Formats: sequence, structure tokens, C-alpha cells
Amino acid sequence: MCMQSQVLFSASDISGRVRALGAEISEWARGLPEPPVMLWLAEGAVVFAADLMREIGCDMQVVSLKVSSYGASLKSSGTLRYSRDFCEFAGKNILLVDDISDTGLTLREITGKLKDSGALQVKTCTLLCKPGKCAGARRPDFVGFDAPDSFVFGYGLDFSGRFRNLPDIRILTKE
Ligand code: 5GP
Ligand code: MG
Repeated sequence: MCMQSQVLFSASDISGRVRALGAEISEWARGLPEPPVMLWLAEGAVVFAADLMREIGCDMQVVSLKVSSYGASLKSSGTLRYSRDFCEFAGKNILLVDDISDTGLTLREITGKLKDSGALQVKTCTLLCKPGKCAGARRPDFVGFDAPDSFVFGYGLDFSGRFRNLPDIRILTKE
């Protein structure tokens, strides 16, 4: 594959920011009457969630949610399907974790379903947010870094199913 990329956020940029996010989230979680549920979205948030959960200094339940679409992509289909029944989150406070917020559609849709199923607070957290694209969408409650409106990969985010295992986040400069 003849592709070129450049590092946008290094492994040490990321670990410093994830530590700070963990501290912010711990403060929120300590104010709750019961331990929250970290609901992380597979596969993209796998690395971020694994690092973040170890920076949160209080008890939590951790569960994954696999999101897929009936069509070719989230944006083209508009119809998402989920690996779990949202009813299991009734009465719980949720930290919804994803790798990146682009249009904000994924987080908005899942937050709505959790609330409709009786979840209490739903806080959203992404490592990256593309603010240019998110105009009009609600910004996640906890954001690691703002990202440019370009395709990024690494640290759990894939490029055609590959490169999730890169320790840094890269931007594609040439395909
Ligand atoms: P949204 O629903 O906010 O438009 O898109 C969020 C989802 O799109 C993320 O969960 C992620 O799977 C995917 N996504 C958005 N931008 C990128 C990107 O630059 N790189 C990768 N690998 N995935 C992205
Ligand atoms: Mg995703």
C-alpha cells in the first residue's frame, strides 16, 4: 500500500491527555450515588477505553457496545444496530466512550436510546472531536483533543480495517 501519513498526536501526547481526562471523569463519578457504567463503542474505542478506564480512580462497571449499520456506512445507512439491549442500562449513570466524534450522529443516537430506556445521566467522552463538522451537534462532555476535518487512524482507529495497533494517531497525507 503506497500511503503516507504524519503523526498528529504522539503516544506521549495521548497518555498525558488520557490521564487528565481520567481525573476529570473521576471527579464526576465520585459525585454519583452509585458507580457508573463505562459503555465503550467497539471496535474503534478499544485502545482509548482500555487506557482511560485505568486512569479513572473509582469503581465502575465496564461494558462494550458493538455498533453496526444495515448499509455500507453509518452515514449512508442512517440505521444502526446494536449488540446489547439498552434496557439493561435503566436506572444507571453512563459514561459513553467513543474514539472520535465527527458529525455527532453516533453519540446523539446512542444517548437518545439510553435515555429512552431509562438511563439517568449520560455523559459522553471521545478522544477526538472534529469541531468543524460537529457544528450544530452537541460537543461531547469530555474531549481529549480537537482534530482537523481529515481522516485519522491509529490508537484504535482503523484505516480499512488496519493500523488500529499503532501507538500514535496519524493523519493521512497521501493515499
Ligand atoms: P459520527 O457519527 O460522529 O459522524 O462518526 C463517528 C464514527 O465515525 C466514529 O465512531 C468512527 O468510527 C468513525 N470516524 C469518524 N471520523 C473518523 C476518522 O477520521 N477515522 C476513523 N478511523 N474513523 C472515523
Ligand atoms: Mg465508530
